[in-house]
Amino acid sequence: MSISGAVKKVVIAGGGTAGWVAAAALSKRLQGLVEVVLVESEEIGTVGVGESTIPPVTLFHNLLGIDEQEFMRATDATFKLGISFEHWGQLGDKYIHPFGTTGKGSFLADFQHYYLHGLRQGIDAPFGDYCLELQAARAHKFAKTEQGLLSYAYHLDAGRYARFLRQFSEKLGCTRIEGKISQVTQHTNGDIRSLVLDDGREVAGDLFIDCTGFRALLIEQTLKAGFERWDHWLPCNKAVVVQTQSAVTLPPYTRAIAHDAGWQWKIPLQHRVGNGLVYAADYMSDEVARQRLLDGLETPALMEPRVISYQTGRRKQVWLKNCVAMGLSSGFIEPLESTSIYLFMNSVVRLLRLFPFAGVTPALAAEYNQQSLREIEKIRDFIILHYHQTERRDSPFWDYCRTMSIPDSLAQRIELFRDSALAFQTGDEMFRLESWTHVLMGQRLQPQSYHQLVQQISPADLSRHLQQIRQTINMAVERLPSHREFIAQYCASGLQ
Ligand code: FAD
Repeated sequence: MSISGAVKKVVIAGGGTAGWVAAAALSKRLQGLVEVVLVESEEIGTVGVGESTIPPVTLFHNLLGIDEQEFMRATDATFKLGISFEHWGQLGDKYIHPFGTTGKGSFLADFQHYYLHGLRQGIDAPFGDYCLELQAARAHKFAKTEQGLLSYAYHLDAGRYARFLRQFSEKLGCTRIEGKISQVTQHTNGDIRSLVLDDGREVAGDLFIDCTGFRALLIEQTLKAGFERWDHWLPCNKAVVVQTQSAVTLPPYTRAIAHDAGWQWKIPLQHRVGNGLVYAADYMSDEVARQRLLDGLETPALMEPRVISYQTGRRKQVWLKNCVAMGLSSGFIEPLESTSIYLFMNSVVRLLRLFPFAGVTPALAAEYNQQSLREIEKIRDFIILHYHQTERRDSPFWDYCRTMSIPDSLAQRIELFRDSALAFQTGDEMFRLESWTHVLMGQRLQPQSYHQLVQQISPADLSRHLQQIRQTINMAVERLPSHREFIAQYCASGLQ
């Protein structure tokens, strides 16, 4: 049963990264079938952050036929092989959560069981020694090979990325309208009819994508979808951000450095470094956060620091009537694992798969909402893990995080790993089994036992197996050029 007419025209409200990602995908994949219009206001501007991504971004670009070198040059992008977590489990700790696979397990027992058995036999190489991406990251090395050796994502300049996608979309026929939306009109059934701009122009459509950021102009201010707060699990709600000059080193990873009331990021681009200090306002004032950020800078600032406030949680319905919310208007977990851009890329792919050509139906919206909920709750759990699984006792913030109650779904995973080293990735889950094992062990959770099947391998064979993996990785890393050298010959923007 359709509750609206056929969808011939999609109107995207907002031209931040989410708006232009949606415009690019819809213009490319619905070309000739559906008209795409985007309304944005330069006066309002964008959130201006969101520069670290995860590997599915490469698949998304492939779907759109985006040329990687052109994209990287246009956005001053660098490669990312993972995130370096510093001071999370305990002050002084450091581990990298890498992309890619780690070690080689068997059909019945994943690699961490072999690794733990090896530890018990006295083979005490760190878990990260069995991951190519992690070792390349540590050595600041990178290359793309025909075999697609390394699994990677990008660090990119958010403003330039939106401009790049705008050009891409406009070439495909997307119409951009500059103007401030001052009113949203509705049909009698509650569907959105049009966006009215402050100069009186009216933009009507059949399906609306709300990409208006935290304002959530359509999905919340107009349709009242409701918001489920997650700040009791994810207490950070502010960030102070600043861009600085390039540093001498160009690590192919994001740094996430915990402090006593949150954490700090460092994102190396070709022409500058993005820095931000994330904090919980209940535990740190803006002034202290600002000073902390400035004190920790490695190169001179290029701008005045700016504070961004946010609330963690999700919109209760992301598809409501003829409106789909994407990006910050649909909710926000927090930037720790760089999942936000991925989430709206996946949202637009989901929309394309369920596209309501003949009109919006309750069944389509319900399916979309259920898939979105399953996905975001799993990511939420993974992020909460970083805060909760800690031994830090040096501040009230960490005391709160360590002792807070957590979702049952996460508690069950932690217990399973603690008891038996079992980790898993379900079908609709973004983070892989290896992500869970790296973070769980990186945050000091040592399993009490592991799968007994691994004892079937003799100590000599196990030692050979583990050594061979480490050796192969070391040899591969040895042959890689430095990240900086690779960028210079592959995609230099000329701005470094
Ligand atoms: P915005 O960028 O806020 O864009 C909103 C758009 O709506 C703008 O174009 C604005 O002009 C328009 N608009 C609003 N109201 C009106 C109106 N009345 N009329 C006309 N236009 C209007 N994500 C990652 O994946 N990786 C990260 O490393 C990362 N770091 C982050 C760090 C912080 C501190 C925060 C807060 C977020 C971070 N994110 C990150 C999330 C990421 O920044 C966003 O998901 C991304 O930028 C998309 O934002 P958006 O397009 O939804 O909203």
